[in-house]
Amino acid sequence: MKGKVFVIGLGLIGGSLAKAVRHAHPEAVIIGTDISEKNIQLSMLLGTIDDSVSTLEAGACEADLILLAVPVNETVKILAQLADMNLKSDVLISDAGSTKDTVVKAAKPLIDKGVAFIGGHPMAGSHKSGAGAAKLHLFEHAFYLLTPGDSIEEKKVERLKEWLKGTRANFLVVTPSMHDKLTGVVSHFPHIVASGLVKQAENYSKENKLISRLAAGGFRDITRIASSSPEMWRDILLHNRDVLLELMKDWLAEMEHVKGLVENGDSEEILRFFADAKVFRDDLP
Ligand code: NAD
Repeated sequence: MKGKVFVIGLGLIGGSLAKAVRHAHPEAVIIGTDISEKNIQLSMLLGTIDDSVSTLEAGACEADLILLAVPVNETVKILAQLADMNLKSDVLISDAGSTKDTVVKAAKPLIDKGVAFIGGHPMAGSHKSGAGAAKLHLFEHAFYLLTPGDSIEEKKVERLKEWLKGTRANFLVVTPSMHDKLTGVVSHFPHIVASGLVKQAENYSKENKLISRLAAGGFRDITRIASSSPEMWRDILLHNRDVLLELMKDWLAEMEHVKGLVENGDSEEILRFFADAKVFRDDLP
């Protein structure tokens, strides 16, 4: 496809999306912006973008596709700014944020003006961040959730998928609240647990320095995601508050249950706890 693509946020996700768009649509012009001059320079050097602009307006008003790949709090602010701009009438806007309900609500002024905003979340990533971590194949075979509002025509969703086909991701359309529930269970809450486990090990390592040396193998596997960007995860928790509070309640009840089994030395039920988890885990695709 021909046209101008404007990528706001040239980190891991924005850079990877830009590379995928370029791969599938070599004739498109890709313009980028970022608050980090270093990420802009690196994106230019790596050929991720063709050019950069220093103001949102300079990139947005000419664009046929605008992709936001910034922390979700920033996405909300930028959507408000875009709503005040004179954008092309058939522009498509999407984001890559890990939460969708608050983002889609923030896009309402744009949608009310007739602008096609389609929330997006490519469900692949890394604990690395920044322009240097961006990869063409980051999203290959991953799910890519899309959350168009009711007023968005199907052909616009298809056009967005066409723009993004270089990701080679599997697109799935869901509602914003369904998105937040699903990702709360499989992504957001596990991040809290991973960071909680690391903090517990850190506390015990003050008593015994051997903890850090022994925290290898399984501990490293289960806590890998705790190395992700703290700012990004702060925003995700603030934006998916209700879902996460519900999951925390369920988790605490589960931990209380296990605690009771251990206190009572209930060998049969402890075995069942692990056996049930193993069955579900072994069945995951
Ligand atoms: P990142 O830190 O690698 O990149 C974010 C970029 O946005 C940085 O270059 C930063 O300088 C820039 N930025 C921040 N505020 C800005 C602003 N106001 N204007 C312009 N640029 C700004 O982070 P990332 O991993 O690429 O995450 C980007 C988005 O993608 C987040 O919303 C995150 O929730 C989502 N996401 C992340 C992952 C992951 O695994 N990292 C996966 C899927 C979706």
